[in-house]
Amino acid sequence: MDRITVHGLNVKETETGDYDKIITLVTQELGKITVTGKGVKSLKSRHMVACQPFAYSTFVLKKSKKFWYIEESENIECFFGIRTEMDRLALSAYVCDVLCDVTVENAPEPDLLRLTLNTLYAISYRKDIDLDMIKAAFEMRCACECGFCPELSGCDVCGCDVQGDVYLDVMNGRLLCPSCKPRAEKEEALIEGTARLYYIISPCVLAAMRYVIACDLPKLLAFTIEKDELYLFGKVAEGYLTNHLEHKFATLDFYKSILL
Ligand SMILES: [Zn+2]
Repeated sequence: MDRITVHGLNVKETETGDYDKIITLVTQELGKITVTGKGVKSLKSRHMVACQPFAYSTFVLKKSKKFWYIEESENIECFFGIRTEMDRLALSAYVCDVLCDVTVENAPEPDLLRLTLNTLYAISYRKDIDLDMIKAAFEMRCACECGFCPELSGCDVCGCDVQGDVYLDVMNGRLLCPSCKPRAEKEEALIEGTARLYYIISPCVLAAMRYVIACDLPKLLAFTIEKDELYLFGKVAEGYLTNHLEHKFATLDFYKSILL
C-alpha cells in the first residue's frame, strides 16, 4: 500500500453521499489527483477543514487499489475572505476551475499552483485591489505558464518598436503594427482552419501585459492601470487565455453574470 504526504489545493468536489465527497486536489508533489473523502463532510470529521472548497492543506494519503484515501490532514490556508462576498467566491471558483483544467495527473506544475494560491490570497485578503485586475493578471500569467506566452517586444512582421495602438494577434501570440496588420491578416486567412482573433491594444494595456508576463510572481499585482484601461486589459487577458485553452468555463460565465 502506497503512502505519501502531499500539499494540495481543493479545486473541485463531487458529493457522493450525505457525508462523503470525491475531492480533486492539485498537489505540489503529484499534480492533479482524486481523493476519496469518506465522512469528511461531517462536522465531527477531523478532515472537514482541510477538505473544504478552496482549502490548501497537507495530507497524508494512502492508496488502495485505484483510490487515494486521507489518513491525516492539516489545513495550511482556507482563504477565509473568499466566502465573504459572492463575487469573490465566484472568481475563486473560476480560478480553481482553470487550474483543474490545465493540470494532469503525475505532472506537478508548481508555478501554476503558486500562481493560483497567490491569486486566491489576493481575492481573499487584498480588498484594496480591483477584482478585475486580479482576474486579468491571473489569466495572462496563466496563459504564459501553460506555454502560450506572447512575444511583445515589437511588431512580429517589420520588427518596429510599436508606438500607439497596436494589434495583438491572439492565436499567434504576437504583435502587429497597423501597417503590417492588413497583409498579415490576409496571409492568415489563406491558411484554412486557423482561428483568427485580433485585439487592438493601447500602450497602457501593452505595458500591463509586458509587466504581468515577465515580473517576479510575488509582484504580479504591483502595477497600476486606469479603470477604463483595466476594462480592456481584462477583455484581452480573458480572450487570450480562453482561446488558447479552447475551453469555455461555466464558472467564468457565472462570475460575469453576477457582475451585471
Ligand atoms: Zn509592422
